[in-house]
This record gives sequence, C-alpha cells and structure tokens, in this order.
Amino acid sequence: MGTLVRITIYSKDASPLRAAFFRIAELDEKLSDYKPESELNRLCRAHDQPVKVSEDLFRVLAASLRLSELTNGAFDVTIGPVTHLWRLGKLPGVETMSRVGWRNVVLDKKHRTVRLKLAGMQLDFGAIAKGYAADEGLKTLRRLGVRRALIAVSGDIAAGDAPPGTQGWRVGLEPAGGEILLRNAAVSTSGDTEQFREIGGVRYSHIIDPQTGLGLKSAIAVTVVARRGLDADPIATAVSVMGEERGRVVFGRQVRKLIVVAE
Ligand code: ADP
Ligand code: MG
Repeated sequence: MGTLVRITIYSKDASPLRAAFFRIAELDEKLSDYKPESELNRLCRAHDQPVKVSEDLFRVLAASLRLSELTNGAFDVTIGPVTHLWRLGKLPGVETMSRVGWRNVVLDKKHRTVRLKLAGMQLDFGAIAKGYAADEGLKTLRRLGVRRALIAVSGDIAAGDAPPGTQGWRVGLEPAGGEILLRNAAVSTSGDTEQFREIGGVRYSHIIDPQTGLGLKSAIAVTVVARRGLDADPIATAVSVMGEERGRVVFGRQVRKLIVVAE
C-alpha cells in the first residue's frame, strides 16, 4: 500500500503483532494496483470472463460497488485508468474515460466471481483498501486474544477496545483540529494536500471526480468516523468528490461523525 502501518497493542506477548502485520501484507499482495502480480492486477488482465477471486477481493469490490450506487458514481474504483495517468502527470482523454465505469463490473456472489466487461479496465482500491486492512489487522489480533489495539494504515485508523482505564484511544484530527476518543470504531481523513500533480499550471488532487476524469482542484479535507475502516476510508473520499451538502444527505445517518474542512 506504499505506506507505513503502525500497530499498538496492550499485551504480555508481542507475537500477535507479527500475525497482524502478516495479515496486512497478505492484503497488500491481493489488493495492490502497483504490484503487477497482485490478485487485483491479474483480474484486470482477464477481459469479459468470470474470474474466481478471494473473499477479500470480493468483499472490498462489493463494498465499493455499493458505494458507487449510493453516490451515483462519485466513488468509483474503476477509475484506475485515470489514476494511472495522473501518476504520470497526464490528463485522460476520451479513450481512457471509455474504460471507466462501475456498471461494467459484474459480481456473482454465489460463485464468488468477477467479470470486467470492458477491455483495459483497471481497478484501484486506493481509497478503500487501507481502511479494510486496518479492520482485518484488528480482527487478527482479536482472534489471538488481543482486544486493546489501534492500527493506523497511514491516515486510516481502526481501534479496538480502549487502553486500560480510559474511554478510548486519543486520536488527533488534522486538519480539522482537536481530538477524539476512539473505541471499536474507525476514523479516516482524505484530502491529503501533499498528494497532487501540477499539470499545465493547475494543481490536481489524487482524488478524481469520475464525471470529469479530473483531480479535484479545491482543497477539501473530509474526516469520517464510522464503525469500520471499510466504511470510513471510502466515505471520506466519496464526500470529498460529492461535497459536504450531498455527503451529509447520503451518509449523515450511516456515519458517527463527518467533518469537512474546505479552504
Ligand atoms: P489517501 O490515500 O490519501 O488516504 P483516499 O483514501 O482519499 O486518500 O484515496 C485516494 C485514492 O483513491 C487515489 O489515490 C486513487 O487511487 C483512488 N481514487 C481517486 N478518486 C477516486 C474516486 N472517485 N473513487 C474511488 N477511488 C478514487
Ligand atoms: Mg479514503
């Protein structure tokens, strides 16, 4: 995932840490779009045929498509062809945009297969995999008897039970300011102001509006607290695209906290 993972636990024994890191590394092998041989990239090379995938990949993809439906496409993990150009400092044209669109992903829950209908589609879990990885790391720890834990995959944080004698893990919020107490919940912030490319004199964020194929030009930072990282991470990204007003209408009830800082 190209980032640092930090795990904090209360335990007499450090070995659960290794198991949690191992679990997160395993997810990186499956879900990365940077690694040519990741499960995700192997899937993307199969065009218009059902491919059997792991439970992890299926779960993350199903959650992504649900969000695409809820946000009317503001969140769209088929944005990969555009993000790959963005990484090179290039803007997409008609051909690139013709390979984007969540409605061209067909899931078969019963057989756990995925069919990508268009040639040259590229999935990108950059806005959801880190939150899921934090959740799964916690799950691994819990299975080994460790419940007081905090996992931070870059800025996507998931917490288990609180440290002894406290109400929760103290997590500082940037750029919103202040701190929250986190317990059996997750917090994500999107809108990393350092993640941009300057193309033709314009600064484009790494968060893309799928309607235009362009990175966001306005600086907006969205912090979301939700039960799971699998929700907090992508919802933060989705609200960045949709804006605060629509974001609150769609997600107001589903999340515990939604903070938007616009410049
Ligand atoms: P960060 O990686 O800084 O935590 P996000 O969670 O907001 O930020 O994820 C941004 C990443 O998500 C981008 O780098 C890109 O890989 C992917 N992405 C960009 N735009 C969208 C979008 N509209 N829908 C889904 N994923 C996106
Ligand atoms: Mg995100």
